[in-house]
Amino acid sequence: MRFVILGPPGAGKGTQAAVLSNRLGVPHISTGDLFRAHIGQSTQLGIQAQKYLDAGDLVPSSITVDMVKDRISEPDTSAGYLLDGFPRTIDQAHALEKILAESGTRLDGVLSFAIDENVVIARMLARGRADDDEHVIRHRLRVYQDETAPLLTYYHGLVRTIDALGEVGEVTTRALSAVNR
Ligand code: AMP
Repeated sequence: MRFVILGPPGAGKGTQAAVLSNRLGVPHISTGDLFRAHIGQSTQLGIQAQKYLDAGDLVPSSITVDMVKDRISEPDTSAGYLLDGFPRTIDQAHALEKILAESGTRLDGVLSFAIDENVVIARMLARGRADDDEHVIRHRLRVYQDETAPLLTYYHGLVRTIDALGEVGEVTTRALSAVNR
């Protein structure tokens, strides 16, 4: 089972993906988490990526795509995965298609988290991550609208939209029913 999770920053994708990963028995692959782990370990990739995360800009695809390719070739992905935060641009979606084609696999669906922008701004201000300063939050939302939201059209036939507003458990129920639809 291979799903992409789409939605603006602060929509709760990471929280839900972690729960769904347990329920569905496939790994949760978050490019943001992978970057933060590299930054925490001061790897070469982390050093390159840091300035982009700090500014709320996208890390160049040349770095991102190779990192995803390596991750989804690991043995724990044989039954599938939940991709959270990738692809984030049409170019990355093309790169993913190529990776999938090379392994003879395809996406089962795209889970889209729909939520009001004012709600996500309030949530992100409350969670206080390093890149959750208000100016950077607004920039990340703009990047999402410009670069990532067009993927909803790109993936139209695969998209299953859920209302991402509500208690964590309620949203999980909606997400599971959308995945199993
Ligand atoms: P996230 O945890 O998904 O909100 O991602 C945090 C930050 O990591 C983003 O603001 C970007 O700087 C970077 N990032 C995560 N995924 C990608 C991606 N697919 N392409 C480029 N940059 C990314």
